[in-house]
Amino acid sequence: MTERIYNFSSGPAVLPLPVLEQVQRDLVALPGVGMSILEISHRSKTFESIIQTTVDDIRKLDGVGTDYHVLFTQGGASMQFSMVPMNLLLSGAAADYIVTGVWSKKAVQEARKVGAVNIAASTESDNFNRIPDEGEIKVDPQAAYAHFTSNNTIFGTEWKAEPAVGTLPLIADMSSDIFSRPIDVSKYALIYAGAQKNLGPAGVTLVIVRDDMLSRTPKGLPAMLDYNTYAKENSLYNTPPVFAIYVVGLVVRWIIEQGGLSKMHGRNQEKAALIYNQIDSSDFYRGHAVPGSRSLMNVNFRLPSEDLEKQFVSEATKAGLDGLKGHRSVGGCRASIYNAFPHQGVEALVSFMKEFERTHG
Ligand code: PMP
Repeated sequence: MTERIYNFSSGPAVLPLPVLEQVQRDLVALPGVGMSILEISHRSKTFESIIQTTVDDIRKLDGVGTDYHVLFTQGGASMQFSMVPMNLLLSGAAADYIVTGVWSKKAVQEARKVGAVNIAASTESDNFNRIPDEGEIKVDPQAAYAHFTSNNTIFGTEWKAEPAVGTLPLIADMSSDIFSRPIDVSKYALIYAGAQKNLGPAGVTLVIVRDDMLSRTPKGLPAMLDYNTYAKENSLYNTPPVFAIYVVGLVVRWIIEQGGLSKMHGRNQEKAALIYNQIDSSDFYRGHAVPGSRSLMNVNFRLPSEDLEKQFVSEATKAGLDGLKGHRSVGGCRASIYNAFPHQGVEALVSFMKEFERTHG
């Protein structure tokens, strides 16, 4: 088998090796079906069973109540930036957005095309190095909903608990930390997540929506932009991304087999702590996020100069540690260590960081 390197990419990102191996084993012909997952009809009994099992496993994994629909859409999390307000921002109302990074800003930008947006809090003046404190969040009790980004992929910050928004329906973009820890879905009106970080390949987006939200949707929306279309047709109104959903099913099953979300959370805490401890024990590395807001999924750090950062990334790549360059809007380095990222890969990075500091510090 071709040797695998450690992939720190922020997404599409590393998938669990047993999942890739199963996809490879079953790619030419699904057992008992005799056709590839890439070839079967989305109306076949086989695919109906795959999508249903995936939905059932997601419900089981995170205790999703029967008053929620579990849907698969396309268009990435970016399409949800539009679908959320198109479906839920009633005419004449405003929505509250908490801005903690580039992706929250994009969500605001799209919502403003549909209706009025209040910025309930923003940490932009601190270059998004933290999550706002409870006292900073100013919600409008009349707002249609409150939206936040649970993990800020680019800046490496993460909410440790849901923002306090009173009785407003709470909506979260969980693209980069879905199923990295237990989530109390009952606190949310709607959750969405592009699959390509913690759930599977690019091309599918998970939406978990409470039933009462579906009745808010205005009449006359384009079918593909209306959550009701997906809810009524079990995400099979048109041809869904069959392969991507199949892989999401395998990833969710893998998480269950690993012991579920608490187990994942424990592992993710251990992995992230190794890198943060290295950052904290040296003057050479500086973390971007303030300690109380640090993400378990994306660890951002700086070196003493941009030249050293370039050298770090390029030598790390040669050492089999790929994808450590930070996003252009924040610079520096970023290690994305989602659920499927192996513990040994984090240990390899920490050894590399020590050695790089010894030779360049
Ligand atoms: N939200 C977050 C938190 C993200 O990290 C990303 C992608 N990196 C997006 C939204 C946009 O996702 P997509 O590319 O699936 O539209």
